[in-house]
Amino acid sequence: MINVSVNGYGTIGKRVADAIVQQPDMKLIGVSKTKPNHEAKTAVDKKYPLYVVKGAEESFSGVGFEVEGTIEEMIENSDIVVDATPSGVGFENSKLYKKFEVPAIVQGGEKEDSVECSFNARANFETSVGKKLVRVVSCNSTGIARLLTPIEERYGIDRARVTLIRRGADPGQPSKGPINDVILDPVYLPSHHGPDVKSVLPNINIDTLALKIPTTLMHVHVVNLSLNKSADKVRMCELLSKESRIHMVALREGIKGIAGLKELALDVGRPRGDLWENCVWEESISVEDKEVYLFQAIHQEADVVPENIDAIRAIMDECSCKESMDLTDRTIGMGLGR
Ligand code: NAD
Repeated sequence: MINVSVNGYGTIGKRVADAIVQQPDMKLIGVSKTKPNHEAKTAVDKKYPLYVVKGAEESFSGVGFEVEGTIEEMIENSDIVVDATPSGVGFENSKLYKKFEVPAIVQGGEKEDSVECSFNARANFETSVGKKLVRVVSCNSTGIARLLTPIEERYGIDRARVTLIRRGADPGQPSKGPINDVILDPVYLPSHHGPDVKSVLPNINIDTLALKIPTTLMHVHVVNLSLNKSADKVRMCELLSKESRIHMVALREGIKGIAGLKELALDVGRPRGDLWENCVWEESISVEDKEVYLFQAIHQEADVVPENIDAIRAIMDECSCKESMDLTDRTIGMGLGR
């Protein structure tokens, strides 16, 4: 049994904690909060042991929250920590993990050169075996790596060009925007997302451009690939359909955008309306000899969740990539059927 704690119980951390308690080989030691807000209440309601920043104990106990201890105590009691604190804080916390000699996973907001290696289960599971500090790449890089890995394996990719149409903010971030704009983010080309994908797929020749738009729902990627070998649409659809973390969206389902996908997730009873899968529109896949075009949507709050679970098993050298991905997929309920 792997004793895991989650430091930073926000958008990503609360989802990862819920996935950990579903794993037969993991025990959730606790989650940390800095403030006694509604998320702290959710953690307590779910009976997750609550750990807090040293000195903040009274602000929690004063409003009726039972506090298990400090974050340092939580780390000390863990075999591994999933750090889901905001960008930059994970790097600061890595000093603490080193001090307690506990391996840790940080998230995509941390810099690539601040960790031993970056992680995506489908692309490079084995690279993280036995490492002390690993970064699960961002939601966008996770989605791109999942898509490109099987295509690279089958056809070889000469060049990938991806335009990222990014959600402006997460639903819980009312102070972020834009609310009436399309922002070139960044204005210069290419964007930093391509190099981030290369942190898990170093041999991919990829350029990315990114825009931010007024939605909180999901990201959309416009993908163009030049392959080394000729392909055809039927085989490309078959290849992608076999990937457990890719959901093929058919036009007959009447879903032409991200609002429809979120509605589907809620209709099938997904927790928090989460979509852990890349959603690739089958009818958008256009193949002409070695040129491929397609659209995919990525739920930014959800796709990195199974990756964090697999990263735990990779670091702890528990099992193979396939065994870990199968177990994660089965326990959380990956797959939307057709
Ligand atoms: P968030 O702000 O929703 O949650 C972060 C949590 O950490 C908050 O609850 C905050 O109170 C807590 N926290 C802050 N400082 C802390 C500290 N010193 N110790 C313990 N807890 C602390 O952030 P998020 O969106 O979950 O992002 C976390 C990481 O995941 C970032 O690196 C981000 O780039 C990455 N990420 C975010 C998304 C997304 O769309 N939200 C997707 C993929 C990756």
